Amino acid sequence: MDPFSHYMFAWLIGRRLSLGEGSLKLFLVVTLLPDFDMASLIFGFQAAADFHGTVTHSAFVALPLGALASIILARVLRVGVLRALKYGVLAIATHLSLDLFNLGMYLEKGQFLWPVYLRSLTVRYILGIPLQFSLVIYLTIFFLMFIAMLYFWRKNDPLWRIWFELSRAEG
Ligand SMILES: [Zn+2]
Repeated sequence: MDPFSHYMFAWLIGRRLSLGEGSLKLFLVVTLLPDFDMASLIFGFQAAADFHGTVTHSAFVALPLGALASIILARVLRVGVLRALKYGVLAIATHLSLDLFNLGMYLEKGQFLWPVYLRSLTVRYILGIPLQFSLVIYLTIFFLMFIAMLYFWRKNDPLWRIWFELSRAEG
């Protein structure tokens, strides 16, 4: 999925869990982490098309990376390490769950068990559903996230507020 949907989905979960400021920031950053494979764009579109949704989306890579990032962020955001690890792992799980609905248009994406199992584990691939139907699911999720964003924005609780308000100590 796109970064917006990932962020919004994690934000909704974090909100539901009533996460404190530090934990929520950590949760939101770590949930975007697997998509840093898009940085492979510096090697050209083809590199990104081949690499995105593979290695950094493997549970065997994403979970340890997420745990490592959580430990580092725990210090920066002054969150307890165990708490950081718990939400870091949940953030990665949140990302991979949403990516189950990826389209995988270029190669076999969604290699969630790389390098043990190199085939796609997206819903589209597993169920063998056509691209059009998969796109409808994708756009529905995106649309729901967009509506949720507008809804909370109107309720004076915009999803970006956490980054702009003054820090409070986490209870
Ligand atoms: Zn992803």
